[in-house]
Amino acid sequence: MAPADPALPKVREVLAVCAHPDDESFGLGGVLRCFVNQGTRVSVVCLTHGEASTLGPTRRPLAEVRTEELAAAARAIGAATVRLHDFPDGNLAGIPLETLTARVDAEVRSPALLLAFDEGGVTGHPDHIRATQAALAVGGIRRLPVLGWALPQQVAAQLNSELGTSFVGRSPEELEFAVAVDRERQRLAIGCHASQSGDNAALWRRLQLLGPTEYLRWLLPLRADGTG
Ligand SMILES: [Zn+2]
Repeated sequence: MAPADPALPKVREVLAVCAHPDDESFGLGGVLRCFVNQGTRVSVVCLTHGEASTLGPTRRPLAEVRTEELAAAARAIGAATVRLHDFPDGNLAGIPLETLTARVDAEVRSPALLLAFDEGGVTGHPDHIRATQAALAVGGIRRLPVLGWALPQQVAAQLNSELGTSFVGRSPEELEFAVAVDRERQRLAIGCHASQSGDNAALWRRLQLLGPTEYLRWLLPLRADGTG
């Protein structure tokens, strides 16, 4: 088994495909900032406004609050663009995959790769799984590789035993990248999602267990000839 690569792929542009406002920060934030730091242009597409969240009740409509939070978080990460769609939070699986795929595909400018949550959705959320299916479909159509943000199975198991969560982890041989990321900037981005980040034990414990490292795997590999 080859050791995990400590460096992210050196590419010009990455499109991150997310289900909810905060996925780009709570989940992908460390990795996305690492891409920005190495000079990669980062764009984010988010499929829902996160209006179904039960965390952090707000006086204003949650979809409105979370739209602003996403914009601020994207700035903190250094994303060049962020596009928010209005599919139903909690029911992405009820939307035809072709519909989601077409929306994500419309966001593709010139990325060299797509970044998404691992196929099990990482937290196990069905919306995460669906967003990744859309990313994989676009990767197939555009012949672009898809990189998956993943958790080591020990971290997932620890979280699940402590918190009763449904995290899905991967064995060491499935994790092709182990990258030291920019947690400081990620924490700034997380802080922009004030409605979601305060009372979120699973988030803070996960970051504690991961330390400075994030893990990734190819969901749709880079081909040997350099095409997706
Ligand atoms: Zn999410």
